[in-house]
Amino acid sequence: MPSKRKLFAIFGNPVSHSISPLMHNYAHKGLQTGDCYTRYLLEDPDRLKETFLKLKLSGVNVTVPHKEAAFRACDEVGGIAQQIEAINTIVLEDGKLIGYNTDAPGFFKSAESFGKINSVTILGAGGTAKALAAIFKEKGIKTTIINRSQGRLDYFHERGFQTYTWESFKPFASDLLVNTTSAGLQDESLPAPKEIISTLLENTKYAIDVIYNKNTPFLQMAKAFGVPCKDGSEMLLYQGVIAFDLFYGHCYAQEEITRFMKKAFI
Ligand code: NDP
Repeated sequence: MPSKRKLFAIFGNPVSHSISPLMHNYAHKGLQTGDCYTRYLLEDPDRLKETFLKLKLSGVNVTVPHKEAAFRACDEVGGIAQQIEAINTIVLEDGKLIGYNTDAPGFFKSAESFGKINSVTILGAGGTAKALAAIFKEKGIKTTIINRSQGRLDYFHERGFQTYTWESFKPFASDLLVNTTSAGLQDESLPAPKEIISTLLENTKYAIDVIYNKNTPFLQMAKAFGVPCKDGSEMLLYQGVIAFDLFYGHCYAQEEITRFMKKAFI
C-alpha cells in the first residue's frame, strides 16, 4: 500500500543553519501527524518546482535567496504574497504549487502583542521591508521607510509610502520602529547613523529587530532609551506556525502548533 505520510522541507542556500526543521518536527511530534520536515540545499532556483515534485513533497518553506524565484515557480499565489512578489511557503494542492507569504503575518502577530499600532517606521528597504510594508498598508497603518541609499526606496515611493534616505531624514513620531536591515547580524553596526536612531527612539513607543537570537546594537540602544523591544524570534516562530497551518489546511489549532514549535526556542 502506498504510504500516506507527508514530507515537508525548507529550501535555501545556505540552509544548514535553519531552525525550521526543528520547529516543524516539534509540531509534527506533538500533534502526532506521523509526518516529517527536512532541509534541502537548493542551488539552482530555476529547478525549484522540478525539485519539489521529484522529492514528492507536500509543502516547503523557502528562505534566502530563493523567495522571489519561488514566486515565479508557483502555479498560483495566495493572499498578500501577490503584492510582495516573494514566497516563503508553498503548498501542493490538487497537483498545483500554491504560494504564500507568512513572514508578513508572522511579523504582524509578533508586533500586535505590544498593543494597537497606528504608525510604523521601517529601517531598510529589502525583501523583509517589502513584506512588512505590504501588510501594514493592508491594515491601514501609516508606514515610513528609511534606507541608507535611494535605489531600493523607489519601489516604496511609487506605492505611496513616505521615504527618507539618511541624508533627507527629518524627525517624526511613530508607534513602532523596526530594523529590517542586516546591520548587526554579523557585525556590531547600527542600521543608521547614531543620531538618526536616537531621534527615532525618542519618538517611538516600541521597537523590533527582525534579526533573531542576538542582542543587536539596535536592541541595546532601544533598551538604553527605555523603549519596550523584542528581537525577530517571535516573527520566526509565527511565520512557521502560519506555514504549518497552511500545510494542513487549518485542521490544527494555531495555539497548539505554537505551543509545540516554541520548544525549538528553549
Ligand atoms: P535584503 O538584502 O533584501 O535587504 C537588506 C536591506 O538592509 C537593504 O535595504 C540595505 O540597504 C540594508 N542594509 C544592509 N546592510 C546595512 C548596513 N550595514 N547599514 C544600513 N543598512 C544596511 O535583506 P532581507 O530583507 O532579506 O533580510 C534582512 C534581515 O531580516 C536579515 O538580517 C534577516 O536575517 C532578517 N530576517 C528575519 C526573519 C525572521 O523570521 N525573524 C525573516 C526574514 C528575514 P541598501 O539598499 O542601501 O543596500
